[in-house]
Amino acid sequence: MPHAVTLIPGDGTGPEIAEATCRVLEATGIQFSWDVQPAGVETLAKQGTVLPEEVIESIKRTRVGIKGPITTPVGKGQRSANVTLRKRLDLYANLRPAKTYQGLRSRYENIDLVIVRENTEDLYAGIEFQRNTPEYEELLEFIGRTTGHRIDPDSAMSVKYISVAATRRIVKFAFEYARANKRRKVTAVHKANIMRLSDGLFLSTAHEVAREYPDIQYEDRIVDNMCMQLVQKPELYDVLVLPNLYGDIISDLSAGLIGGLGVAPGANIGSDYAVFEPVHGSAPKYAGQNKVNPMAMMFSGVMMLRHLEEREAAHRLEQALMQVLAEGKSVTYDLKPRPDDPTAVGTSQVADAVIERLHNM
Ligand code: NAD
Repeated sequence: MPHAVTLIPGDGTGPEIAEATCRVLEATGIQFSWDVQPAGVETLAKQGTVLPEEVIESIKRTRVGIKGPITTPVGKGQRSANVTLRKRLDLYANLRPAKTYQGLRSRYENIDLVIVRENTEDLYAGIEFQRNTPEYEELLEFIGRTTGHRIDPDSAMSVKYISVAATRRIVKFAFEYARANKRRKVTAVHKANIMRLSDGLFLSTAHEVAREYPDIQYEDRIVDNMCMQLVQKPELYDVLVLPNLYGDIISDLSAGLIGGLGVAPGANIGSDYAVFEPVHGSAPKYAGQNKVNPMAMMFSGVMMLRHLEEREAAHRLEQALMQVLAEGKSVTYDLKPRPDDPTAVGTSQVADAVIERLHNM
């Protein structure tokens, strides 16, 4: 039986990297029945939305999606398709592995981190108040009355909230992931020394969950210290679990540690559905040029194969990608010593090279 998977090519450079990724996934010998769903600038022009309802319905049917990046139109009143997708399908865990491979130009070796970011609340929930609005004035009056803080009305506000339920499930996810993938340690990252109530709740809940997993080491770090530690001694860390905002920042930091966005994969996972996607955006200035690196989406495909329990195929595809990277010949401009290196190949040639490796295994 082929695996039914929703394929969202996205926009900008998305369709090119999606095409390259589908080709390498199929070359593993695993069969897929792709339900191709357009989303992004094209559907915005035609249907007035970057995320048509059909996309959600398709993932509800197939339960698994792989997507290219989608541009967020600025100032058009459109919410990011990515944020909406995560919310609508309750994809509460954002999983971003950061692993050094031979051939990547990085200042570090032997990094093998997994960032588990809470995806649904914190400052990212989008609860914001604009200055000079009656709601905001009411809120300031309430804050003044209950806390004594007089906030300058010529300001704006974003609300940070963290719940026990969302923290429990993300920390449990991190421990379950650690257990299933034979990881040794989970580190909870927070700023509970300053945000005693919101981050404090995250931390105390994480401590409680950790007691349910005595087989896995557990520790916590304050987020600013975590940044320094990751730069100085990343090898000490394994699985990190973080609230939404810190998770976003630390996962880009980790992508930088391993050599950049071109190879950083990601997954958004909920109780019922999972969507795999590269960390990078749509890089629209390179659209249609057969130029950008498809490996981040291909590594996301490796994660998807594991999710589909096709572990052997996942291993082979990862090995093929590693071989192409280590050889350093059939790689895109971003992995060359200089971006204008004339030996850089295009998106589809990377797929050809990976497929050749797969066929020779
Ligand atoms: P971006 O990741 O698209 O591009 C930043 C730069 O990184 C590019 O100019 C390019 O030099 C490089 N780059 C990115 N991907 C690359 C690849 N695969 N190979 C080689 N080089 C690559 O970030 P941006 O310019 O901030 O965002 C562009 C659009 O993408 C925005 O509309 C943003 O909202 C959207 N976005 C979407 C997602 C998503 O779909 N999940 C994620 C991030 C950004």
